[in-house]
This record gives sequence, structure tokens and C-alpha cells, in this order.
Amino acid sequence: MQNKSVKQVDVVMIGGGIMSATLATILHEINPDLRITIYEKLSKCGQESSDVLNNAGTGHAGNCELNYTPKKNGTIDESKAVEISEMYELSLQLWSFITKSENINPKKFITKSPHASFVWNKSDVAFLKERYERLKIQPLFKNMTFLESAKMIEKKFPLLIKGRKKLKHVALTYYENGTDVNFGALTQLMIKRLKKNKNFKVLQNTEVHKVTNKNKKYQIFSHKPEIESDFIFLGAGGNTIKILQQLKIKESKGYAAFPISGRWLICNKSNVINNHQGKVYSQAETGSPPMSVPHLDIRKINGKDCLLFGPFAGFTFKFLKSGSLLDFPRSIKFSNLKEIITVFFKNLNLLKYLIQQVLMTHSSRMKHLKKFYPFASEKDWRLINAGQRVQIIKPSSRFSGKLEFGTEIIYKKDKSLAALLGASPGASVSASSMLDIVENCFIAKNSKSKSKLKKIFPSYGIRLNQNPSLLKKIRDQYQKILKLR
Ligand SMILES: Cc1cc2nc3c(=O)[nH]c(=O)nc-3n(C[C@H](O)[C@H](O)[C@H](O)COP(=O)(O)OP(=O)(O)OC[C@H]3O[C@@H](n4cnc5c(N)ncnc54)[C@H](O)[C@@H]3O)c2cc1C
Repeated sequence: MQNKSVKQVDVVMIGGGIMSATLATILHEINPDLRITIYEKLSKCGQESSDVLNNAGTGHAGNCELNYTPKKNGTIDESKAVEISEMYELSLQLWSFITKSENINPKKFITKSPHASFVWNKSDVAFLKERYERLKIQPLFKNMTFLESAKMIEKKFPLLIKGRKKLKHVALTYYENGTDVNFGALTQLMIKRLKKNKNFKVLQNTEVHKVTNKNKKYQIFSHKPEIESDFIFLGAGGNTIKILQQLKIKESKGYAAFPISGRWLICNKSNVINNHQGKVYSQAETGSPPMSVPHLDIRKINGKDCLLFGPFAGFTFKFLKSGSLLDFPRSIKFSNLKEIITVFFKNLNLLKYLIQQVLMTHSSRMKHLKKFYPFASEKDWRLINAGQRVQIIKPSSRFSGKLEFGTEIIYKKDKSLAALLGASPGASVSASSMLDIVENCFIAKNSKSKSKLKKIFPSYGIRLNQNPSLLKKIRDQYQKILKLR
């Protein structure tokens, strides 16, 4: 029974990050009559993990991240890189749709930034070469090039080569059309656009402290009057697990979350910055987790260029940067205890890595940077905090759990709830992740909605890697709109 004194809406989203903004944007395109309310505990949307300095801003498309092309049975498996690239193509289509419809200057949130992978020892050079051979035949990666001579690498990225002692075994793959994205600014642009629809509301400075599920409705409690909704999306970043636990969703039984904080070395010296144009990734150190893949990136922060190196990890119990040190301890329940304990014992290496990271001094961090940029000077760099990456712990068998570094969407069986967990590849694939929710919970078998989706995503339902001519056409269109040439 509907409680008439309580405001009724169709969709509630908890958290005003890139994920909720994306889901609300797609839903309003296919049905502007949907009454959508977003709750955001901070004073503005996009200020947690989606904020410009809280993440690396890499438009992850598999161009440079070596952990997306692991070796399996002695050969490189490129399928994950292809899959992520396909997903990123959808994000670019959505962002160009928004840019065009609102006549926005795309430079406010996206810039062209070449993506490179750089290695400096014999075995890694062999790996990079094989990776390049496998990727260059995939239409999505057609324009990638491979540089084996230090001289040629120096022309593109002088900082990597100047002062390097051993120049025999160096190699770099170069992908001209990579991107750097300010996901925080993009979130705010999407929210601003959504506010034009009278059926959309965003409640900022409003923390949801309780959600209940009665009579096939969700009741949302904050310091504002209660709201009731038919559908709920938990896009609360690290806090999502807490709300899932409150609601006791059967599908999330045994799930837990493990936070790892991030840190960057940042440099604002123009004589350094001007010598590095792009994002250069390399191999993670042996035994360290995938999110520790080091990279040296040019970034645009509030209109100004700076150079970031990292990420370094930190040990924390907070699920959000703006969270509480009790977040992790409070999320340990009888229902996920065995998963947490088994993950702890299976991942002692991760624990060792985190302890090493916490004990690092400025000089030891600089040592890591100097592997990329031998002439780096300690006085030009300082340490800043990034966002929290909250990794997923989930059941793997009746008796144990496993740690996942990816992203996962949990659906309630009746499809009245979707919850996003995990951190990677994250914001870059927000369009694809949110499309999954739209398809699962909103448009099943509704062809009218599907044709509306085609307007936003011209490649909807088509694998671009298998359609090179469509890929070229779509890329030409969005690169022009987003000024990525
Ligand atoms: C160090 C680091 C580097 C990264 N690098 C990249 C990268 O290069 N490329 C990439 O694509 N992705 C990257 N990511 C991942 C990316 O940042 C995230 O995937 C993305 O920002 C997640 O968006 P979100 O909307 O789920 O979460 P968030 O942006 O964190 O939004 C969640 C929101 O929920 C709000 N909230 C929480 N609880 C409540 C509550 N109870 N009531 C109301 N509001 C609440 C929070 O205040 C927050 O604004 C990185 C992440 C980190 C930490």
C-alpha cells in the first residue's frame, strides 16, 4: 500500500557520482516522464572518486594498460583490452551526444592525450612487442605504433630517456588518440543538463542514513522528508556495500569490501611538464596488485597542466575519502566473516605490499618515479591524496571468498534494485555499466526504447571491432564533436 503523505518517485539513486549521473541521463533520454531523485551527501556532485584529482582521469580503452593483456598459457590474451575498448567507445558516444545536444565546450571535461606503454628490460620488451603484434590487427587499435629505438622514444617523451643509463632494451607503444577525462566536471555537466527536466531532482548535502524495502517500494530516510521509490540504484561508491547490508539483499550475501587509498606525486614545474605530452603506463612490480600499475601522466586540473605519477597505495578503513575509520570494521558481519578471513589469508602479499607502501618515504617514492624519469628532482614533486578504491570481496565457494579488482553490478532478483561495486576500469566504462542496468531493469523487450538508445549510441548492439567501417564513421563523428583530433 502506498503511503500518500510520502513523496512518490519512480527511481532513487544514492550517490551523485559519474555512475548515477550517467544512469539518470540515459533513463531520461528514453523516458523523460520518469521521476528521478539523486541523493548526494556532499555539497556538489562528482566530488568523491569521480573528482578530477581523486582518479587518474585515464579514458581506459586498453591502449596502454598492460594488465589488460595478461599472458595465458604462454601467449598474450588481448580479449580484455578489446572488451574495454568497446565499452569506452560507448562512453565517447554518450559524451558526444551530450556535448552536441547542450552545445558544451568539450574541453571542459575531455582532452586528447596520447596513451603509451613504456618498458626498459629485455623480457618486457618481448612482451610489449607481442602485445603490439596482437593488438595492431584489431580494428579498435589499428593506429597503434611500436618504437624500439631510444632516439625515437625520446622525440615523443624526452623525460623517459634523458639520463637513462641502459638504452639497449627499451620499447614503447604509442596510441595518438588516447584521452584524459575530468570525470568530476563531466558529472556536474550531466547533472546541470538533467536539472532542466522538471521530473529530475538532486538533493545535495543530503546523506541517506537508512533505506527500507516494504510493500514493493523503497523508503529513503535522510534529514529531508521521506521519499518512496519503485526502483533504487546504489551508486554510493564505497558506501554501497553498507546500504546493501542494511537492506539484507539475498544476492549480496557473503559480499564485503576492502578499501585501499591512493596517492599521487604531483609536479607543477612548467619546464618539466612541457616535456611530457601524454599518459605513459608500465608494468606493475612483481607481486603487486593490478591497480598499482605505475604511470606518468600529463593532466589538466582546473585549466592548468600538471604532471602526476603514481598511484601509491595507502592503508585505510574508510570507504570514502569523506568517510569514517569505522567503515570497514562495521561492515564485517557474521554473513561475510568467512569470506573476509579467507581473503585475508589468501592475500598476504597484498597486505605486505600495503605495509611497504605506507612505510615509503619521499625518497623511496622518487626512486620509483626515477625508473620512468631518471632526471626527476625531489624538490619538484609533492605527495597528494587521491580517492579510495574499494575492492570487492565475494564468495567463491561455500567455504571461502575471493578478492576482485574489477567492477560488478548486483541485481535484486525482481530487478527493483541495482548496486555498483568495485573500482576498475570504473568511470571510463560508466556508459556500458549503466546501459546494463537500463537493459536489465527498464527496457526488456521494449523496442521503442531501443531505438531511442540508438540515437545516443549509434553502435548500440553492434561490436565495433567487427565492423571497421562503422567504427571509422562513428569515431570521425565523435572526434569532431569532442575536439579529439
Ligand atoms: C586512485 C584512483 C584512480 C582511478 N583512476 C581511474 C582512471 O584513470 N580512469 C577511470 O575510468 N576510473 C578511474 N578510477 C575509478 C573511478 O574514479 C570510479 O570508478 C568512479 O569515479 C566511480 O564513480 P561512482 O559514481 O560509482 O562513485 P563516486 O564518484 O565515489 O560517487 C559516489 C557518491 O556517493 C555519495 N554518497 C555515498 N554515500 C552516500 C549516502 N549515504 N547518501 C548520499 N550520498 C552518498 C558520495 O559522496 C559520492 O559523491 C580511479 C579511482 C581511484 C580511487
